[in-house]
Amino acid sequence: MSNEATPPLSRLVRELAPSGIRKFFDVAASMQDVISLGVGEPDFVTPWAIREAAINSLKSGHTNYTSTYGDLRLRTAIAKHLDAMYGVRYDPKEEVLVTIGVSEGMDVAMRVLLDPGDEVIVPEPCYVSYKPCVALAGGVPVGVETLASDQFRISVEQIDAAWTPRTKAILLGYPSNPTGATMPREALQEIVDYAVRKNLYLISDEIYDRLTYDGQHTCVAALPGAWERTITLNGFSKAYAMTGWRIGYACAPEPILSAMNKVHNYSILCAPITGQMAALEALKVGESSVVDMVGQYNQRRRLIVEGLNRLGLDCHMPQGAFYAFPSIARTGLTAEEFAERLLFDEKVAVVPGTAFGRGGEKHIRCSYATSLEKIEIALQRMERFIKKLPAS
Ligand code: PLP
Repeated sequence: MSNEATPPLSRLVRELAPSGIRKFFDVAASMQDVISLGVGEPDFVTPWAIREAAINSLKSGHTNYTSTYGDLRLRTAIAKHLDAMYGVRYDPKEEVLVTIGVSEGMDVAMRVLLDPGDEVIVPEPCYVSYKPCVALAGGVPVGVETLASDQFRISVEQIDAAWTPRTKAILLGYPSNPTGATMPREALQEIVDYAVRKNLYLISDEIYDRLTYDGQHTCVAALPGAWERTITLNGFSKAYAMTGWRIGYACAPEPILSAMNKVHNYSILCAPITGQMAALEALKVGESSVVDMVGQYNQRRRLIVEGLNRLGLDCHMPQGAFYAFPSIARTGLTAEEFAERLLFDEKVAVVPGTAFGRGGEKHIRCSYATSLEKIEIALQRMERFIKKLPAS
């Protein structure tokens, strides 16, 4: 990165590690006949009615900026949706911000909450962007390792052990990427009570809320004591198969949300209007598609988890999202070795658990956002791969 002719890039950026996922995607993309269990996005196309609404909005000439907060009709629909789903109330005028996906929401949340050196507790293994977002905002991510034997759930005791006087917030991301873990309501309530006692913020990434298979999703902000200290992040990418439209939202009490809007206003201005129109339609007519897609993910979940366990790769049943996170400990390989050799020997792409931080060392992430047929073939190839390993 150093170039004597120009000054160095910022220290924050120089110290940032590149994503451990990208490397595998780039190699896999250059190969033929690869079955990818690597990608974290729906294999479905956005439902037609949603695409059509976007086409019609373009035909009608809607090509302008919207309010920085987002189109008020969309914000109103988001507030109604959250109220209907979880009984959590946000004022669409002041407490809902339409963002460029949860990605932007997370970045802005950190920039608004953190002063240099402030610490954020992050359960690991976790989504690849969480810790970099904290660091880029000048904060310090404090990873707390969660274990397969605890179903990758974090406890108040673990949080308390990681707490310091610099702790400002706890980042929760359930259902979890990469583990598929969810948190029972009572366990989340304990974390909320702890945050109240210690006066901490909660940032809750609930992008996989609709992809909850067993039981009900708990919206953190709906829990007693949580609302005033919680930033809820969610979006359209996963539930409605809308990753490329780049629409998400942040909800929080007015003082936090207006601060977020200030940052968003200067750096983004507003989310793209065509995506906003599509998202509005998704909330109007997308429900049956969500139910249908979730049903399909659920079938795939059972197939892949049963298959992995049959191969001796211990895998707890993920309760949400679309990832299985089996242990590869019995193979004697590291996660990186396993992923690399599986890709080169059998052309199956998975992500080494190390890409998601501590607790991922002996795991791989297998996305089941792909067809049943492809999952079957991937399992057959993995079986061949494992049979050839000397350790098994
Ligand atoms: N949060 C989690 C846990 C994710 O897995 C992803 C994408 O994979 C994102 C956020 C980013 O979502 P968006 O497309 O809304 O930016």
